[in-house]
Amino acid sequence: MKDSTQHKFHPVGRCIYCGATGVNLTNEHIIAEGLGGVALLPKATCDTCKDITSKIETVCLRGPLGNIRLGAEVKRKKKNKPRQLINYKIFVQNPDGSEREVDLSKLSKDELPTYFYYPLPVNPPAILTGLPVDEQIEMRSRHFHKDTQARLLALGHKGYIEAAYDERPYLSMLGKIALGFVVAQYGLDAFIPLVQDLALGREEEPLRYIGRCYEGEEGYSDAMHEYMFELIDEHFIAVRLRLFGTYGLPTYKIVVGIFKNPDLFDDQG
Ligand SMILES: [Zn+2]
Repeated sequence: MKDSTQHKFHPVGRCIYCGATGVNLTNEHIIAEGLGGVALLPKATCDTCKDITSKIETVCLRGPLGNIRLGAEVKRKKKNKPRQLINYKIFVQNPDGSEREVDLSKLSKDELPTYFYYPLPVNPPAILTGLPVDEQIEMRSRHFHKDTQARLLALGHKGYIEAAYDERPYLSMLGKIALGFVVAQYGLDAFIPLVQDLALGREEEPLRYIGRCYEGEEGYSDAMHEYMFELIDEHFIAVRLRLFGTYGLPTYKIVVGIFKNPDLFDDQG
């Protein structure tokens, strides 16, 4: 897998999501800065699409990945802003047996119990298997800190976390990242994109293009975020994408498009 820290790419000159030209185009962080992403695709998104993809990322950063980001204090731009978490609550029991919600904004980063919450499709992308798109997806969680359980206990008796997330924004974000890496490597003209709707949160069947990668690395990786390209059946350009491999999160396979000229494929690229 390639470490995601390469960050110099050619300007695209077109919106990679809607194809717009002749409009204001801005630089696109392939992986959100809030997740520690550094790869930058110059002149790659129009204002309308940037607005949509940014909102999707914000949901992920304040929701499924919000508490880990706060726990790690990954690049918080406005350090004095109060923590905003979506659907993440901690409850503990008082000595008299009643329950109270913990005020998370008062906890330091060394006190906050932190988890990753992520959706994991059961199957590879349906477009590769030829099977109908099913809805089989698991919501999983994983400790961010080794002492997460101890942190939770420190907050009070019988502490528990309530977290509920919709899987779609996370899947859209993965589609957006995969599209960005393929464009960065091969250019927008090298393939017919299939995941623009996914990246914009409009795809009705995300699991047609995104699924679990069973050839993915096991255990823990050295790079925080990593990826590699795959040409499947001399036809599909796909990305194996692993975010937070350092914490043992899984690898996804995302079919980004139809590759026009297989001879140009270079997995070392
Ligand atoms: Zn656009």
